[in-house]
Amino acid sequence: MHPSPAAALLAELVRIDSRSPGRLGDPRSDGAPTEEALARFLSAHLEQLGMTVELQWLEPGRPHLVARSPQIPGAPTLAFEAHLDTVGVEGMTIPPFTPELRGGRLYGRGACDTKGPMAAMLVALEKLLHDTQHATRNAGRSPLNLLFIGCCAEETGCEGVKHLKINGLRPDAVIVGEPTENRPVIGHKAHLWFELSVRGKAAHGSHPEAGDNAIYRMADVIASLRRFAGTRLLEASHPGFTPATLSVGTIRGGTKVNIVPDSCAVLVDVRLLPQQTPAAMLEELAAWVRADSGQPVEITWKAMAPGFASRADSALVRAFAAAGDARGARMPPGVVNYCTDAGSFGEAGYDTVVFGPGSILQAHAAEEYIELAQLDAAVQILMETARQYARC
Ligand SMILES: [Zn+2]
Repeated sequence: MHPSPAAALLAELVRIDSRSPGRLGDPRSDGAPTEEALARFLSAHLEQLGMTVELQWLEPGRPHLVARSPQIPGAPTLAFEAHLDTVGVEGMTIPPFTPELRGGRLYGRGACDTKGPMAAMLVALEKLLHDTQHATRNAGRSPLNLLFIGCCAEETGCEGVKHLKINGLRPDAVIVGEPTENRPVIGHKAHLWFELSVRGKAAHGSHPEAGDNAIYRMADVIASLRRFAGTRLLEASHPGFTPATLSVGTIRGGTKVNIVPDSCAVLVDVRLLPQQTPAAMLEELAAWVRADSGQPVEITWKAMAPGFASRADSALVRAFAAAGDARGARMPPGVVNYCTDAGSFGEAGYDTVVFGPGSILQAHAAEEYIELAQLDAAVQILMETARQYARC
């Protein structure tokens, strides 16, 4: 059996190693993979489709890609966005960059997060460009300006998209490609990662009274964090969302069993509702924990990314619903807890939906794969949604 156009393209994308080299600005070793090879491949592919491509370099080896179709004055502009980077391959039990097709699935790193959604977008894009070229002659189809955006540095807390420049292109709506099992996702939480640390004073373990145990201080701070999570964080609500959460992910303190530790630090992951701003919440949490625990904690933020919530009656959300009706398979819109590049697009005021084939359960997994039936269905849904959107 021949693979479908989306499966064939996805196999090509998986073959290109685009593992995240780490956070922007981090030093990296010579020859480490970056997003560049994938961006170059996509540039050639999109130019062949007649699009104009621009690479925006955030640093050497790390570009954003912005491609636009020949502009039609007065037509709405719809953007497809997908991130270029994947997570690493540590612990994988299948060949990461040699795509395997078996049992109706395609296996490989990035197959579902997010090269599968990207391949579905690219195949849909090709057909839509064809539609648009013939829109004047084809009464049933309305013209649409199309953008394809490939962002770097997503896997390190959606940091790359904050530097994307698309103001001159002003899309009316953005579809962010992530594995949502082909369900339109119209909102997600914001995230905030930070470190809390406390200092003590070292002493010999046989004379603890001569020291000041930083781990004991941290125990008070953690109890305080849990009180914050169980009270203040539960106060806000947003339709469709579960409340904000807090989780202490790592703890580091002490060097030896017979030394009173002089420092202790924890890394904390907070997930906020779309209307809560991470910076304001961090300030409030810091003040609250210092007062409640009585500990002079120091706080360093590590990463934050905004959440978003689209209006359930936005033009793009309605286009997804109309596409579902047209195909006789309506998918009710939902919200998720994890972060995507959509937060930045929502924050900038764009009508935004996250959508794509594949399940988040297989993202970053030891055995990452995508169901090919879902991949091909995604192409149809994206095409139908874009056509419905062009008509609105
Ligand atoms: Zn992703």
